[in-house]
Amino acid sequence: MTDFEALGLSKPLLRAVAAEGYTTPTPVQEQAIPPLLAGRDVLGVAQTGTGKTAAFALPVLQIMSRNRPQGKRKIRALVLSPTRELAAQIDERFHAYSEHLDIRHKVIFGGVNQNPQVRALQKGLDILVATPGRLLDLINQGHIDITHVEFFVLDEADRMLDMGFIHDIKKVLKLLPKKRQNLLFSATMPSSIANLAGSFLHNAIKVDITPEEVTVDRIDQKIMFLRKADKRRLLVKIIKQERVECGIVFTRTKHGANRLVKQLDQSGISAAAIHGNKSQGARTKALAGFKNGSIPILVATDIASRGIDVDGVTHVFNYDLPNEPESYVHRIGRTARAGKTGVAYGFCDDTESGYLVGIQRLIGKEIPVDSSHEFHFIGAIPKPGQKPGKIKDPNAPKKKQRNRNRSRGGQGRHGGQQRKGQSGSNQGGNNRSRNRNRSRNHRQRDD
Ligand code: AMP
Repeated sequence: MTDFEALGLSKPLLRAVAAEGYTTPTPVQEQAIPPLLAGRDVLGVAQTGTGKTAAFALPVLQIMSRNRPQGKRKIRALVLSPTRELAAQIDERFHAYSEHLDIRHKVIFGGVNQNPQVRALQKGLDILVATPGRLLDLINQGHIDITHVEFFVLDEADRMLDMGFIHDIKKVLKLLPKKRQNLLFSATMPSSIANLAGSFLHNAIKVDITPEEVTVDRIDQKIMFLRKADKRRLLVKIIKQERVECGIVFTRTKHGANRLVKQLDQSGISAAAIHGNKSQGARTKALAGFKNGSIPILVATDIASRGIDVDGVTHVFNYDLPNEPESYVHRIGRTARAGKTGVAYGFCDDTESGYLVGIQRLIGKEIPVDSSHEFHFIGAIPKPGQKPGKIKDPNAPKKKQRNRNRSRGGQGRHGGQQRKGQSGSNQGGNNRSRNRNRSRNHRQRDD
């Protein structure tokens, strides 16, 4: 098997990688590092958890440390990231990998006082990791000059577009010098991302780490069928029985996350919520407590979970099954990291069986069922031939349901599709992508 030396990395980087305990490059590293070292643009289809940060950070560091210009440091590498957490974690990785190099890096993001960031910028930097809003803000104030950038990295591009950053990205692209090396990473490759990639990557090498590869064998996946009303009791039971000390519970909504934290607390389990409505301070505190082991359970929504990079997560609970199958792969990838093993429980109630069908179709296998619990409910098991997607909530009041259909713009076709989906019949490709967009927007609002 290829090791890091064979990828062409320099001694200082090999030392740093060894100090991190990495012995074997991950698939995305194996495929992306050599072309990047050779100066090529790279388009990477890979999620957080695949080792993609090292895949771009190591070659960028290597090339930058080979030829450092004299005089005051200028920003030569710019990494754009959608969330503060992810930006901070990328910067932390640069710190680890540049241990034996003369490279200065800094992360900037919004929601905090800009003055320390401005001071660091004034001292001179080689690498800047940033979220788009704060970057443009400080560029406009004249604190940042990106006209000397040699490497431009756009990370989590699909999330960037989901979060409405497309115009900011375009503004940044206009300010960058023409001659530079580009990297774009995205967990998914819808046409919007392909178009964006086409607009600024030149003759890029495509590195595709499919979700199936991410669903590593080291994750022990289980599905449990039960009623919605029993989810909390089952969760508490498993956490106590398995003495979970580092687990993430995923809920669909921010409100659901907050409520669950309170309920866990009532059951004597210490937990913290992390989602888009929490202040930066609260998010940082929750994540720090989780990392240092003082908070054993983190309750998260999907968007906030991006970039949660904690190596020792032993359990992931899909308390609510995600309505987007890709999110399932992303969520369970929070465990079994860095060579460890992990368990991923999926709680499926009778309104979620269609989501389970979609997830199993994406990962290409049936997730083993664990029915050895007192809440097992056969009514939540997908029916033979059930199609993926949303199904009717049997508890939803009839009147409300009708209003919802009507409020979708009085679009007879939409209403019809919705009814079709609810009755479990097929949704065509177009319908699916429309539903997907709708659920995306919904999730964004919700997070
Ligand atoms: P990333 O996808 O960049 O968020 O990385 C996920 C996790 O994998 C991080 O905690 C890294 O420290 C770790 N990691 C990256 N590369 C390797 C490797 N080759 N071997 C073991 N762990 C790695």
